[in-house]
Amino acid sequence: MLRSVLITLISLWSAVSFALPQESRVPGGIALIDLPSSTSAPKVEYLGHRVMVLPAEEAEGWVAVVGIPLNAKADEQQQLSVNGKPISFGIGDKAYPEQRLQIKERKYVEPDPAQVERWRRESAEQKAAYKIWSEPGAVITRLEIPAEGPYSSAFGLKRFYNDQPRSPHSGLDIAAPDRSIITAAAPGVVTAKGEYFFNGNTIIVDHGYGLSTMYCHMSEISVELGQRLKTGDQIGLVGKTGRATGPHLHWGVSLNNTRVDPLLFVQQK
Ligand SMILES: [Zn+2]
Repeated sequence: MLRSVLITLISLWSAVSFALPQESRVPGGIALIDLPSSTSAPKVEYLGHRVMVLPAEEAEGWVAVVGIPLNAKADEQQQLSVNGKPISFGIGDKAYPEQRLQIKERKYVEPDPAQVERWRRESAEQKAAYKIWSEPGAVITRLEIPAEGPYSSAFGLKRFYNDQPRSPHSGLDIAAPDRSIITAAAPGVVTAKGEYFFNGNTIIVDHGYGLSTMYCHMSEISVELGQRLKTGDQIGLVGKTGRATGPHLHWGVSLNNTRVDPLLFVQQK
């Protein structure tokens, strides 16, 4: 009895003091990799991108918080560079379900060359935002759900539009009613804002240390590029702009320029 109370107290204490994201060593998940003790935080890279590093929960040392891409192979060792030295880790497999969607507007399934050109330009703009590395005072490792509604499409679904295979679902869809309020998931700075071909009215917010969040298909955006946000600030309204079958918020989370499951950053209630 006493032992279980003690264990509960200890786990509560760790949950409060060290709010690490939930670990899930699979494609689209997050690996928490213990690193040896050193006087300052080591510089860690994975697939050529800088990785978030935090002080370890217990004793000395550091922990790397690594986003694993959806196309990572479970049978291949993943390589980190830690101050230039290699450290490898293994991952498991995850079978994400299929999702088949019917899109009425043909341009969203078979865009013409001008639309492809537009998409390329916009894609480069969004990718540049994901690559930003900033070091604000506080490290963000927990996110608040940015809209209220049921989850309509999970992260990672293998997608088919009008029976044609497309990229897997890189975020979480929240089926909030049309024009309901969308709020910032954490403090940060708006690093991309646009009316994009596929994603519709979209912003990306940088939270520092390689973590950013993306909000798509909005009917209205109420923030400016470069604007500094607090958790819960209104950033726009739910809509169905771009390639969307109905009003919803597509919420994406990127860590070390890798799209990961947003719910790993959400405190489970
Ligand atoms: Zn989506």
